Amino acid sequence: MIARVSLEIALRKEFDYSIPPGLAGQIEVGSRVQVPFRSRKIYGTVTALAEESAFAGLKPVLKVIGAQTLVTPKVLKLARWIADYYCCAPEIALKSVLPEAVRKKTETEAGWRKQLFVRALPVSGELPKLSKRQQDIWNLVEERREILLTELVELAETTAATIRKLEDRGLIEIAPQISERDPYARENILPTQPLPLNPAQEKALEKITGAMQRNEDRGLKMGDGRHLTPALSPLLTDAQRGEGETPSPILHPPSSTFLLHGVTGSGKTEVYLQAIAHALKQGAGAIVLVPEISLTPQTVERFKARFSSGKLQTLVAVLHSHLSAGERHDEWHKIRQGRARIVIGARSAIFAPVEPLGLIIVDEEHEHTYKQEEAPRYHARDVAIMRGRMENAVVVLGSATPSLESYYNCKKGKYRLLELPERVDNQKMPRVRVVDMRQAAHKEKGPPIFSPQLKEAIQQRLERGEQTILFLNRRGYSTALQCPQCGFVAECPNCSLALTYHRPEQKLRCHICGHSENVPAVCPNVKCKNPAIRYAGLGTQKVEETLAKLFPNARVRRMDADTMKRKDDYRKTLGDFRTGKTDILVGTQMIAKGLHFPNVTLVGIVYADLALHQPDFRAGERTFQLLTQVAGRAGRGDVEGEVFVQSFTPFHPAIQYARRHDFAGFYEQEIEFRGQLKYPPLSRVALLTLKGRNEDKVKFSAEHLKRELERNHFVAAVYDRRQSDEKIATVTDRRYKFGDLIISGPAPAPLLRAETFYRYQIMLRTRAMSKLSQQLVKIIETLALPEDVTLAVDIDPVNLG
Ligand code: ADP
Ligand code: ZN
Repeated sequence: MIARVSLEIALRKEFDYSIPPGLAGQIEVGSRVQVPFRSRKIYGTVTALAEESAFAGLKPVLKVIGAQTLVTPKVLKLARWIADYYCCAPEIALKSVLPEAVRKKTETEAGWRKQLFVRALPVSGELPKLSKRQQDIWNLVEERREILLTELVELAETTAATIRKLEDRGLIEIAPQISERDPYARENILPTQPLPLNPAQEKALEKITGAMQRNEDRGLKMGDGRHLTPALSPLLTDAQRGEGETPSPILHPPSSTFLLHGVTGSGKTEVYLQAIAHALKQGAGAIVLVPEISLTPQTVERFKARFSSGKLQTLVAVLHSHLSAGERHDEWHKIRQGRARIVIGARSAIFAPVEPLGLIIVDEEHEHTYKQEEAPRYHARDVAIMRGRMENAVVVLGSATPSLESYYNCKKGKYRLLELPERVDNQKMPRVRVVDMRQAAHKEKGPPIFSPQLKEAIQQRLERGEQTILFLNRRGYSTALQCPQCGFVAECPNCSLALTYHRPEQKLRCHICGHSENVPAVCPNVKCKNPAIRYAGLGTQKVEETLAKLFPNARVRRMDADTMKRKDDYRKTLGDFRTGKTDILVGTQMIAKGLHFPNVTLVGIVYADLALHQPDFRAGERTFQLLTQVAGRAGRGDVEGEVFVQSFTPFHPAIQYARRHDFAGFYEQEIEFRGQLKYPPLSRVALLTLKGRNEDKVKFSAEHLKRELERNHFVAAVYDRRQSDEKIATVTDRRYKFGDLIISGPAPAPLLRAETFYRYQIMLRTRAMSKLSQQLVKIIETLALPEDVTLAVDIDPVNLG
């Protein structure tokens, strides 16, 4: 037998190896193996098995890693789709489907943590005479039967050497043993029961479970193994498993992808929970994706409380970047072994080996963090939909502010729209007031940080003992150091960006590359040396400082990347806010999401235009989403909430529609704008970025790439007269159209220089992205670039910077 292996070094090729007799039967598709390559031994994944190879003199596979295949055939198929669609080497796609902690630590049991445990041995007859200290230790061990050595040392306030004396006397045994890490072991979670649903929730759940039922029936026919699994959940009764029901006839299976559009607090999570319960009943598992930032202990707790505690004890595994490598390893294997049936995690949890998979939930589906910003540049939401399709699983995308793409797909009938238009508690949406800062600036000779209206509103809250959240999506003190005399602006030496002033440390910092330098006392321009340098623009530090001046008695806390450096900072700051130890919380987008604080009755958005000024066709959409999310933080309790949006462009549609909580209205006007300019969702974008340290070379390479793209498409166009006519017609407007494809650029990236690299971009727009991806792979493979210029291909980019 021959094994075809994709190697971990990016070669875009697979190699055949012979399977030696000693390993026969141990290697399957998806196995991780070690193979010889040139003079090295490297790791790879088996992608196929064959009877024979076209090559002679094959080298043998050296060893198989792990008893169980790590990449299941289904996940392997998904990785292949990623490589094809996102134009990356298959090895890179394969690498991303396994957490590093799993990939690196799979030889035998090395990944499991072994720790020394102390165990009581049976005592025959009288206990030998022990010292007081030894007796204490013995009592503890006997009571616990088995205890971690380190824990015992701590509990008995003793040393390992003293404990070993008991071992010498034959009373106890100290031996290494696998001890599974549980990142949530310390939490004491109270079980919850399903809530009776309101009519809107009920209807949504019915549609979702209906689709799950149809998928199960189809799966039974296709033998996807789902019918085998109820044995794995012995705690369920036959009735719970839904046996004995007659399968409904399948005529035209409608889409299994849903968009659950529900305002914040409308009870989306409760719908997820009950849909998951249905999946478990079917003997299937579920994956829940949440953005990294909202993967707070409270979120995880809600899922654990429903499924992991009490009688059911279905394990919920958690995968995210704050876990230690060891914890991640253990959580992953709990899933692979089928012990954990529900996975909750950030982006890469979409690759979790849940088998069979009945349901995928993507919460806050509009979030940009679902897009990976390095190869493979996949979008977890889109991968989820593809995986759902491949494995017959239902996919539920949830959001209060759906992405234009998903809403558009509903309008086109590709997804089904489910709506939860009202808050569960029947509370009104907060009242949103837009403050025209041009007037405030006029009155005060220069823009103030707080308009009189917002200032007064904060004052009121302080008097009433209610809480306030102030939002500004920019950290630091001031955005730029500027000399009023010569116009000098302090810029980063590595990036084309002004440095931000950080007052507490008295430093200027670059928010792209992290460069930092001391604050100059005089203008650094040698010809100027003006001692009166000024700081322009504002960041969260300045907001915090201004608050301290205006409201000296208020307890203010700031929450941004600068104050949230340690793992526990986030939890502590929010804990203090929740318990009322803080009056005003100032923060960046960190505070925009998913937090419930009943006593918050005021939210102030200090400078709403910030997101609008991004050079990105999604700037309006982002602003709308951000305002809606932030506004959703107000009035979660008994008192109606109030939101102040300070803006210099108060009549911008993104601000006005957000003010009226009108998603559909925003969608209608935004989709028209996108259509006119052929931007997504009415097309798909591929962004090609060339980067290098020599600007001329980068520019030249970009032009060369563009010619290659044109040449390639020209060949296709000769066969179609109409299309080549179109080429002639549009050749003058600097954009070349060949049929459906629009090529624009090359142009300098919005941030031309980042981390010492110059970047030029070409943007491609098409409706047939899969086809374009195929062509791009071919072009990339033959493209000759100078050695110090690299090309990055980003399909469906969310960050155009
Ligand atoms: P969303 O996820 O849409 O923001 P949640 O699911 O968090 O909304 O619901 C908000 C609050 O309402 C939660 O405290 C939740 O427990 C509660 N809730 C949800 N559904 C119901 C229901 N049917 N009856 C009573 N309370 C509910
Ligand atoms: Zn920089």
